[in-house]
Amino acid sequence: MTASGLIPRRRLRWIPAEHRLAHEYCYFLHDQSARLLVEYEKAEAHLVSIDFASKGEEKRFKKVAKTDPIEAMRSIGQHDAARRVILNAITMGLVSDCLHHVYEALQCMEKRKSIVAFNLLRKPLTDNLLYLSWMFGDENSFFSSFMEGDPTLLTQKQLGNRRTTIIADALRQTALSSILDADFIVDSIFEAKNAQGLYGAMQQAVHLITAQRVEVRTDPQNFNFVFKSHTDNDIYDGVYDLLPPLLLYLAHVMLGLFERIKPMDEGAKSAFVFRTTHGLSLIGDADDVRAIRALLTGLLQPHFICAHCNAPLTVTTHNAARILLTDSCRCTSCRRAMDLPFSWLF
Ligand SMILES: [Zn+2]
Repeated sequence: MTASGLIPRRRLRWIPAEHRLAHEYCYFLHDQSARLLVEYEKAEAHLVSIDFASKGEEKRFKKVAKTDPIEAMRSIGQHDAARRVILNAITMGLVSDCLHHVYEALQCMEKRKSIVAFNLLRKPLTDNLLYLSWMFGDENSFFSSFMEGDPTLLTQKQLGNRRTTIIADALRQTALSSILDADFIVDSIFEAKNAQGLYGAMQQAVHLITAQRVEVRTDPQNFNFVFKSHTDNDIYDGVYDLLPPLLLYLAHVMLGLFERIKPMDEGAKSAFVFRTTHGLSLIGDADDVRAIRALLTGLLQPHFICAHCNAPLTVTTHNAARILLTDSCRCTSCRRAMDLPFSWLF
């Protein structure tokens, strides 16, 4: 049995046992975010509709739209709609690109290709996360810089001193402001001096030789990571301490940006927030795990008995993970697994 039942056991066999639930949680965060993307795409929620004031306006619009749809909207005074179209397109594109990289990185972790995983994590964590945060936290500033048309205004060098502010502005608008702080996120991803952070490993995974910064300098007579054994577990220890909260943050920024495109159904949104946020408690310390078990027991036990043997629901640690990550549980009396669709609570 895997930690939560989300990922088949054979796929988890190379992940150190103590990190399997954290890995499943990371996968869960990816899946929840990818589901939002697919639903928005399918519903074409990112498309903007325009009511034309007259036939003449419609004709004018269609003529310009053949070559430049954005300019066409501006030509009939629809400046807000034009801006929304641009922001929606950026959101969909950046989220999709980000999730593809995260997915492949998690696959690589399952295959013990951890250096390739770091390569794949570098862009979504250092780039996509920052631009998505900027767009979410301070849309006006992002939009005006983007529309300047000068890519040098968007480089990491330009944004370096503003990273903490950008992330703090975004974090404040999520449901995570009491759980995470911007300094932790910046230190984990961008701080070379933080030996426990991901910066050094991500840089060294991308380059064979790193010599510019003393903190991540290649060892003498060596190339970064090429002589490292794929059986070493230390990389897994570092990744699964940090990746779960970082992906949680990313998932909530994506949620916020999707809400700008079109507000979500309140129940679905509450379930997303509850499951993703409390999922982090599953991989916290013993007190966190006790607290989430007690919370789920209080919420669910009065409403649920086993459909096969009528036993009351017991929220073991395994069941807490199953309920939050997979909408199912396993009866502790008859051992049968069954659906426990969590979303109805909301
Ligand atoms: Zn039962």
